[in-house]
Amino acid sequence: MSTKQTHRKDSRKRPLAEDFVRHDERKPRLPARLEFICAYDSVVQICDMLEVLYLRRIKGRDELWMAFGLDVINRDGFVESTHPAVISGLAEECKRVFSAQADGDKADAARRMLEIHVRGNHGFKWPNRFVKGGLIDKPAFQQMLVDLEAELKANAAKARTYENAPIVVAARELGLHPRPTGTGPIHWEATCPGTNHTIMIGAESNEFGCGYCRGKGGPDELREFVKQRWETKARIVAENGGGDNE
Ligand SMILES: [Zn+2]
Repeated sequence: MSTKQTHRKDSRKRPLAEDFVRHDERKPRLPARLEFICAYDSVVQICDMLEVLYLRRIKGRDELWMAFGLDVINRDGFVESTHPAVISGLAEECKRVFSAQADGDKADAARRMLEIHVRGNHGFKWPNRFVKGGLIDKPAFQQMLVDLEAELKANAAKARTYENAPIVVAARELGLHPRPTGTGPIHWEATCPGTNHTIMIGAESNEFGCGYCRGKGGPDELREFVKQRWETKARIVAENGGGDNE
């Protein structure tokens, strides 16, 4: 299993810039041929996280790459360089977010991919401060956020007309705090009981579904799903409680 690592170390293709930064061989790093898109802070629960995005156009595909988790000391010095090798050395994690067929000029592609990325993370994190621009500048970034927020607000207002739908009422009675997601005019979500994730609610179809727990169905199935969840939790607590004195 160390053969692969030895080959990597001996590779003559290693970019020169990487020699200037300390890095951990086990940590994924940003590849070569990236173009800096932009960097911004996102709110994740109560923390701000710096996200640094890059575009990589290769073999007819566009890839969105992200580095995040720069520590507090380094993030202030970050404005000096957006070179992938430097950022790789500072970031906690680097990853390819997704890829799509290459289409149009790079600035347009970067804008489309940023929007998909931000939409996909809605409910978990949301950008709150622009830090540095590349393919996307501050005005374009802020306009995208204004448009997205208006869309989410309009969707949530439409979804609220379903607040008396049986599945929404059931979720409320069960203490799952149902709320419109903003992602569509009939999209609601609620807390999956005893977990940190959400269940999806279709207000028009009167159905719920949890992709993690694989539970789904109508209001009756939701009541049964919640009942079983609490019964299981109570059993685990009772079992563990027996070993408390050891
Ligand atoms: Zn679940």
